[in-house]
Amino acid sequence: MTGGRVSVYKARAVRVALVLSLVSVAGPPARAAVPARSASTVPVPVQGGVMPVTAAPSLTPGPAHYRPVVLGHRAFPVARSNYLSFLRILNSWHAPRLRLVAGEWRLVGVHEGIDIGAETGAPVVSMTSGVIENVGWTFYSGQRVGVRGDDGAYYLYAHLSSVWSGIVVGSGVTPGRLLGRVGSTGYGSEGHRDEFPPHLHFGVQHGGEWTNPYPLLVSLYTEAVTRQGAAQRALDALAASGDTEAWRAAADRLYLGLAPPPGE
Ligand SMILES: [Zn+2]
Repeated sequence: MTGGRVSVYKARAVRVALVLSLVSVAGPPARAAVPARSASTVPVPVQGGVMPVTAAPSLTPGPAHYRPVVLGHRAFPVARSNYLSFLRILNSWHAPRLRLVAGEWRLVGVHEGIDIGAETGAPVVSMTSGVIENVGWTFYSGQRVGVRGDDGAYYLYAHLSSVWSGIVVGSGVTPGRLLGRVGSTGYGSEGHRDEFPPHLHFGVQHGGEWTNPYPLLVSLYTEAVTRQGAAQRALDALAASGDTEAWRAAADRLYLGLAPPPGE
């Protein structure tokens, strides 16, 4: 990009900025881009001293992802990592669930949620505002986070590969807040994984009864993709105009986590 044609396209850029302002967003302001993290040596305080340790390799995919679109105080619970992200909402409400036990497939129950297929490491975000009610392992859910929404409903995010370190019981969350990463944990004792392809199991309980979140998920995802598509086209227009500053501001509005959130 160059800055030579900025003045010619300034009015156009303003119109584009107005389009972008229609995208409702959540989370902390985006920060400057940084290179993707890799294994590195970081200082960790140990009983008054500082001991160098090797940090975990970066989770895949990279830290930047589409900023969640918040509609009616709700966000779709998996963030698209980039424009090629694979997400699939499976209409699996009340589907039979089988498990291989001692060489025989056994019906272990019906599915009381919706599965969202995604890449391992895709960001899982809170659909609603509320309070973290539980974090940790259960046999079927694997590594999971439960949120008690401000609406009184219970929201379950299961099979996570990791939970963000800022997510602890009692802490508050807002729509779009990072909870953890998509994984394939569960159907076994702690640490068990890969019984199935990576996905988010998303469940909603009202008054102690699981309810079908499929229509809500489809509506949130459809609207989010529509708005992100419009924002992406606006970004393209700014790139063509050569207005680097406006492009940068627009990119920050479209993408969250151009730097990783603190503590992850
Ligand atoms: Zn499921």
